[in-house]
Amino acid sequence: MASASVSSNTPQVIVIGSGFGGAVCAARLAEAGHSVTLLERGPWWDTVPVRSMGVDRRVALPRGRQLFTRTLRGMGGNRFPGNRIRLNKRGLFELFFGKGSAIACSSGVGGGSHIYSAVHVRPLVDKYWEGHNPAISDEIMAPHYDAVLERMGSITPTAEHGIPNTSAERFRDSEFLEPAAPPPDPRLGYLLPKDPVNPVKVTDAYGVERYEVDYEGNDNGFLGSPSGGKTTLDFAYLAPAMRAGLVVRDMCEVTAIVRQHYSSSRYRVEYTDHHAGQKTMLEADHVILAAGALNTLRLLFHSRDVVGGLVGMPQLGQRYGTNGDYFGFWNYNEPSLDQTRGLPTTGGVQLKGDDGSPMIGGGGFPSVDSYPLPKRLRKWIKRGCFIAGLGEDAMNGTASMDRGKLKVSFPYGISPIFARIRTVFDEIGKRTGKKIYMFKTPLTVHPTGGACLGSSPENGVIGANGEVFDNEGLYVADAAALPRSPGGPPSMTIAAWAEHIASQFER
Ligand SMILES: Cc1cc2nc3c(=O)[nH]c(=O)nc-3n(C[C@H](O)[C@H](O)[C@H](O)COP(=O)(O)OP(=O)(O)OC[C@H]3O[C@@H](n4cnc5c(N)ncnc54)[C@H](O)[C@@H]3O)c2cc1C
Repeated sequence: MASASVSSNTPQVIVIGSGFGGAVCAARLAEAGHSVTLLERGPWWDTVPVRSMGVDRRVALPRGRQLFTRTLRGMGGNRFPGNRIRLNKRGLFELFFGKGSAIACSSGVGGGSHIYSAVHVRPLVDKYWEGHNPAISDEIMAPHYDAVLERMGSITPTAEHGIPNTSAERFRDSEFLEPAAPPPDPRLGYLLPKDPVNPVKVTDAYGVERYEVDYEGNDNGFLGSPSGGKTTLDFAYLAPAMRAGLVVRDMCEVTAIVRQHYSSSRYRVEYTDHHAGQKTMLEADHVILAAGALNTLRLLFHSRDVVGGLVGMPQLGQRYGTNGDYFGFWNYNEPSLDQTRGLPTTGGVQLKGDDGSPMIGGGGFPSVDSYPLPKRLRKWIKRGCFIAGLGEDAMNGTASMDRGKLKVSFPYGISPIFARIRTVFDEIGKRTGKKIYMFKTPLTVHPTGGACLGSSPENGVIGANGEVFDNEGLYVADAAALPRSPGGPPSMTIAAWAEHIASQFER
């Protein structure tokens, strides 16, 4: 690897990470006329929409034999040798094993939108944005949710859409289970077919092509959506913004953010360009950090404690949470069942009459026909499904850095939501005779907090416009900023926060 060089490009704003926080902020700022460079550690995925955007360097989503080599980008944890190992820089997922919390997150242009189930909801807890900072309220944030839902083309599913294998259909005749009432204003980020047996290709106003969802194809789940049936940020936000001048640099992994000595609000962003195999740096007056909660915390700690490039942030790492996520594998194992039909998520389910149940949902495993496994085994996998519970947790975890190593600790026993979900899972298993296998330690796909919104450095890391207290010009736009567990899928809340930051920029 060559020594570090300075890139000639000098944008006004550098955005780190292209998930719900980064893609949204970068797009909105570029569309407002700012000069923005977006650095993303992973590749562009080879999907129908990305091809139609004219992106040359693309990487196939993990399918076939590449499922073994390209599903995981890397792994890490409190007790991992060296804290983390990188398995494949073109891998889709990262896993981190903390104390009391395992975390799954993604890599690639579009971030978590490639692996998500595209359930779009507002926070399920009351008065979510109230009481954290006097300049932020539910009323102020409401239009930002509307903007995200519109840009993502979110739709409200109805019976007319003819989605097969929903909870309502699966549990209609069940003695023990029933579909749970949907959350308020439930939306989905899929292009549903007008004719369910004949999904067609459509082209949007920006020339982006995508196929309607094929309900029998089972290829829009957490291994990505090659056809574009699932709405992802690369085409929904980045495609129009690139036409407005946004520069997206894929395979560029940021390693440190350093405040320059000659100006308290100018930053040097150091990164490895994996295409060139070179260490490089960029400078800008504004840096928007949106590497996902795990990696945003890692970068802030490393930049402050190891490199000495940032200052202050006494609350960094406090109030880390998991949104109450708890996963299990539900072994249906009935010969006639194929759980993979329809959409990746089938809607909520509850024990009959258990109206106070936590939110429980699930779906079949995605893209099973592409697994390099014997047909019998694939058939068996298609009969099972994953099941997940979630809800508000106490966000009483901490992230810290100990001798350069990131540590995450989450005493999940304190949050009643986990015991409630376990009880429901046990009861479902007992009553249906179809066991649910649970992880001992909760696995979260919704890590939250650690660089939270607050009203001062004594109770938060960032203020009302997303700017880090003590580090002028540095912002946090992703899930690390969330001041409270949303209690339901969080992507719309993260995206709304990013819309808010962009709307406040330089006002
Ligand atoms: C299986 C699964 C299903 C889900 N389903 C839903 C759902 O239905 N609805 C919902 O609302 N949410 C869902 N989620 C959660 C959702 O995906 C996340 O909450 C969301 O993606 C978090 O957004 P973010 O911007 O914080 O981070 P991310 O979307 O994770 O984006 C962070 C980006 O930063 C990049 N990055 C990291 N480190 C660096 C670095 N050093 N340099 C440069 N780039 C970097 C990453 O590669 C990534 O692209 C799901 C998650 C999973 C795993």
